[in-house]
Amino acid sequence: MDWPRLRSVANWVNLSTPCGLLVARAAGCRVVGGWNGLYFALGYRPRLPVAGAFTIGNVILFRPRFADPAAFPDLVAHEERHGTQYALCLGLPFLAFYAVAAGYSWWRTGDPASRNVFERGAGLAAGGYIERPVRPAADALRGLRRWNPRRG
Ligand SMILES: [Zn+2]
Repeated sequence: MDWPRLRSVANWVNLSTPCGLLVARAAGCRVVGGWNGLYFALGYRPRLPVAGAFTIGNVILFRPRFADPAAFPDLVAHEERHGTQYALCLGLPFLAFYAVAAGYSWWRTGDPASRNVFERGAGLAAGGYIERPVRPAADALRGLRRWNPRRG
């Protein structure tokens, strides 16, 4: 069994692909078959998440400006790598790991992607991200203290 096929089976069994298809249906997307076992859910309009495209299992959800995903192969490749990350995280636990990685990146760079291991693994530039520099830990801590709502 080749890797795309194995990933496809894994993301069906771990239920991330069915969840992605449910989200696509709830959002009124048109779902078409992509390549490598991917599904392209077109016309995603809800406000969140703030992204041109995002992935749940083997389902890539695209905002209307990406009506023809084949015209954006770098973006599709980026999202496909997230599909692989779902499989390696055994499905939906990916979302919790991703949230921790995004929080860490935000703390160190002020940006949820620059030091996010999942976004780096999927390719920052291909995902439309600009790499921000790491700020010194002491500065980052001061930033967190300032952010603490209890300190007013
Ligand atoms: Zn990404």
